[in-house]
Amino acid sequence: MTTLQHEMIRSELEEVVGKEYISTRESDRLVYATDWFWLPQMWLDRGAQPTLPDFIVHPGTAVEIAEILKIANTYRIPVVPWGGGSGSQGGAAPVFGGIMLDVKRLNRILEIDETSLTVTAEAGINGSVLEWALNEKGLTLPHYAASANCATLGGYLAPRGSGTISTKYGKAEDMVLNMQIVLPTGEIIRTPIVPDHAGGPDYFHLFLGSEGTFGVITEATMQVDYLPAARLLRAVLFQNLGHALGAGRQLMTRRLSPFVIRLYDPASTATQVKKVLGYEMDGAYMVMGFDGDPDIAALQEQKSLEICLALGGQDLGREPGEKWWDHRYHFYYPPNGLHFPWMYGTTETVTTFDKLEKLYWAQKRAVEETYADWNVNYIGHFSHWFHWGASLYSRFIIPEPPQEAEEAIRLHNRIWNTAITAVLENGGMINEHHGVGLKLSRFMRRQYGPAWPMLERIKKTLDPNGIMNPGKVGF
Ligand SMILES: Cc1cc2nc3c(=O)[nH]c(=O)nc-3n(C[C@H](O)[C@H](O)[C@H](O)COP(=O)(O)OP(=O)(O)OC[C@H]3O[C@@H](n4cnc5c(N)ncnc54)[C@H](O)[C@@H]3O)c2cc1C
Repeated sequence: MTTLQHEMIRSELEEVVGKEYISTRESDRLVYATDWFWLPQMWLDRGAQPTLPDFIVHPGTAVEIAEILKIANTYRIPVVPWGGGSGSQGGAAPVFGGIMLDVKRLNRILEIDETSLTVTAEAGINGSVLEWALNEKGLTLPHYAASANCATLGGYLAPRGSGTISTKYGKAEDMVLNMQIVLPTGEIIRTPIVPDHAGGPDYFHLFLGSEGTFGVITEATMQVDYLPAARLLRAVLFQNLGHALGAGRQLMTRRLSPFVIRLYDPASTATQVKKVLGYEMDGAYMVMGFDGDPDIAALQEQKSLEICLALGGQDLGREPGEKWWDHRYHFYYPPNGLHFPWMYGTTETVTTFDKLEKLYWAQKRAVEETYADWNVNYIGHFSHWFHWGASLYSRFIIPEPPQEAEEAIRLHNRIWNTAITAVLENGGMINEHHGVGLKLSRFMRRQYGPAWPMLERIKKTLDPNGIMNPGKVGF
């Protein structure tokens, strides 16, 4: 971009949002150069120059966003929506520069409807701020993401996130009734009032998982719940991972409604569970939780425990379950989370019960055997359970990765190739809840096969100049 173009664009953007809501300062541009994706963070860590956005813009309304997108179309420059920047996939990384569209000024709660149990809020609202407001009315948005303190409502929906209690309450996308969206060409639309209707084809779900490539979510109406009267938690230890998975399957297929099943593989039990909760145990540690009416929750817990015991589980009682609940987010933050100088990645996936254990062993073997020389650690837990299957939240950790940035990129990409190939060859999806972003973009064509060109055609129709978040989600 020439200096002249830069100034022309800047003056047009200033007309829309005002001078104080645009920054081109080097320090701000560096802050917005990376989200939580290991690769661009490593690039910065090694002192290499990242790609920076040209402008950081803080619009205050959907109308302003529409005007910004029209300017971007005129000059054919990229626009990257930025919520909290807590995504781990490089979805908000400005790989081609352009406009960084920080939506956090769109942060108002517009309506809490206590009859229909819904909340309508602007998409840039922080997850915890929204939750605190609902809690004051005895309500909760049951999307308990470990990143709620730094993520936004739009950031929950755009990559199809799942929170800790999704096993009963669903993914973020299961809670949204309708959205206001600014299309790439600047039209402002609102999807139908509810998604469950028979009023024609469903374009609503097209925007969930589009991660800013199909437009900008500016408002959403979410279904909320009453805060539960009781939350019962219990832990069980299994010596056999397959039996533990079988127990989880029965809890789901018999519809015992656990709000959480968190099953750590023996490697995670020996490392993460020990580090965060202080328990030294051999085997697979499983936490299950039941909530709502105290009598119903107690009965569900009792029936579930019977299933676990019949499959060889050892009842550890309530205390280790409650302790896990109290520390559930501590697994992801210092001093327990993954950190430099390690190389790491969360190669999470989802599949049906018939394939789940096989996929776990296939991915574990592939990663451990291929990268044995790098002393790779592979750990995993099973979370986000469905009636038909569950998510495997697997991770690799290389304690001493190459220091040279280019070499580190090559090793990192090779490990991802190995892990995702194991997923695709064993019937899994490339992701369950972190989204695709930049990290998994190159696997989209392989995942969708002959269906992929159809999505490319939709993208071309919605975003003819390709301004929205280029390089992400396969586009
Ligand atoms: C410590 C930690 C714990 C985490 N735990 C969880 C978890 O429990 N569950 C989970 O699902 N994820 C989790 N994540 C991943 C991530 O935080 C979530 O995906 C989160 O919801 C992203 O929200 P954000 O506002 O930070 O989005 P960003 O990182 O800003 O953006 C994510 C993507 O969505 C796009 N986007 C953002 N806002 C909009 C919008 N308004 N319109 C259109 N596109 C938009 C961006 O362009 C980008 O592609 C975790 C991350 C961290 C760092």
